[in-house]
Amino acid sequence: MRSTTILRRVVGVVTLFVSGMDYDQGWVIDVHPRWRNPRCGMCCRRAPGYDQRPARRWRHLGLGRCRVWIRYAPRRVDCPDCGVRIEQVPWARQESVFTHDFEEMTAYLAQTMDKTAVTKLMAINWRTVGAIVDRVIAERLDPDRFDGLRNIGVDEFNYGKHHRYLTVVVDHDRQRVIWTAKGQGSKTLGKFFDELGLRRIAQLEYVTMDMAAGYIKSVRERAPNAEIVFDRFHVQRLVSNAVDEIRRAEIHKLAGTAAAAFIKGCRYPTLKNPWNLTRKEKQKLAIVQKNNNALYRAYLLKETFAAALDYKQPKRARQAIDEWLAWAVRSRLQPMIKAARTIKKHKEDILRYVKARLTNGIVEGFNTRTRMVTRRAFGFHSAKALIAMIYLCCGRIELDPALP
Ligand SMILES: [Zn+2]
Repeated sequence: MRSTTILRRVVGVVTLFVSGMDYDQGWVIDVHPRWRNPRCGMCCRRAPGYDQRPARRWRHLGLGRCRVWIRYAPRRVDCPDCGVRIEQVPWARQESVFTHDFEEMTAYLAQTMDKTAVTKLMAINWRTVGAIVDRVIAERLDPDRFDGLRNIGVDEFNYGKHHRYLTVVVDHDRQRVIWTAKGQGSKTLGKFFDELGLRRIAQLEYVTMDMAAGYIKSVRERAPNAEIVFDRFHVQRLVSNAVDEIRRAEIHKLAGTAAAAFIKGCRYPTLKNPWNLTRKEKQKLAIVQKNNNALYRAYLLKETFAAALDYKQPKRARQAIDEWLAWAVRSRLQPMIKAARTIKKHKEDILRYVKARLTNGIVEGFNTRTRMVTRRAFGFHSAKALIAMIYLCCGRIELDPALP
């Protein structure tokens, strides 16, 4: 095999002409595209040559301990549409000083690794990683991701020290983040509906969310056909918070007694799901049942509420919720009465869960992942860079850095 053929295979530039190589702080490989007629870097169409620029380098994937660059003197074309432009080269994106392979690998690593690992392995700084991720996203983010949307979830996500927010929209059916932007509430979600357009809005069936007034308003106004589904776990949290408030009130009431100290230690036994309780926690709960009327009633209300949403038949769930509401209102437990009022107000949107069987769990899952991304992306400081990272890590962008 000829040495240039071997070189082309090893470096992974089989589709290029290799005209020479050099060593200058690493391997420098002289190449040129196989096409004779240059193409416009903007529109990719063939265009008459204009002049030639001095040779420049593109950073490529390293070989062992050596850095590798690809060197070429690009031509300029006189494109009838775009004017005088640098020609398109097949190994790199327009305006990038890295090759496709290098950028693909960097983005792939950025999907999983922390900041320091990526920058060390690729020997570039974090800002450069951000710029690469931007370019990869611009090319790889599925432009058809809004088509055929049926069920979506909306959630807000706070980041940074100063309570800045992003709104995140996920596609329940394809399990991916499809849209995210800076800000929260109806105005921000409105921008999503602007992009979606009337035809696709009309196809929406369910929108899951927590009970945030801004998003409710936006969906009611912009997507009146879509049905809102309140996330059951958010709703259940309302009731759990009431239980905890009642527990704290009991501690206050019994202050200074052994009973107060005991109830202080009952936070987890009264809040956890019963099937997750340890034996010790179960014993504590039994003591609560015997001695503390108010707290145990609150606990039973919490469990009964969760059970009502477990019904598979909407009719039975509705009946159970109605019974629960009547019980909660008569419970003489102020925090529970307050939670019941909220639940009564949103009853239809809460019950819709039984039919739709959708929760914001997937969004929450993305939230956890997004939080990881934020931590890894710390140092970006801008929402734009964070958004690009969220698309990269939660938008189902498949990267394959392995050479063919
Ligand atoms: Zn052009």
